Amino acid sequence: MSVSTESPSVERIASIEDRLAAIESVLEDRAMQPAAFVETFNHWATKEWIPENGARLVAKAWCEPDFRARLLADGITAIRELGLTMPAHHRHLVALENTATVHNVICCTLCSCTAFTVIGLPPDWYKDLEYRARVVRESRSVLREMGLELAPHIEIRVWDTTADTRYMVLPERPPGTEGWSQEQLTAMVTKEGMIGVAKV
Ligand code: FE
Repeated sequence: MSVSTESPSVERIASIEDRLAAIESVLEDRAMQPAAFVETFNHWATKEWIPENGARLVAKAWCEPDFRARLLADGITAIRELGLTMPAHHRHLVALENTATVHNVICCTLCSCTAFTVIGLPPDWYKDLEYRARVVRESRSVLREMGLELAPHIEIRVWDTTADTRYMVLPERPPGTEGWSQEQLTAMVTKEGMIGVAKV
């Protein structure tokens, strides 16, 4: 019996390009259309699932108390008023209102879940094990490291996303924006603000 001294496992791994081509070829053999799917998915990811959707919700909630109440009571139903939807398995959208004494921040300790059709796809740091673990245990320090220093009297509430319950933070309306249009306010609201790692 002869034993190879080479390292077979490393050399047998094909490049990402070759693996992708192999998967596409298998799908095409089965009369599927992977290229068309990738193109469609890319369109949704870059043009439809954008934080401006959530920003419009936030601006409307700031300007219209009745809408704010509906958004806080039943997010999924309220976002339909702006023509927004969520996938069927996102059964609940919970809007978390920041106040002078409560600051909300969201995470997914398990993986990367977000209300992505509303606030946009999760940033890379949101998916990092470090953020997912530390924001729960030492949220004040993590927020400080990300540039958000909160006064000691402000209570921080961390919300862990699940498969069927998604969250968005409703930030506080910045002072000095009285009389601004909803379009102007929309332009101020960021994905980070709706995750809760930044103020607007
Ligand atoms: Fe997740």
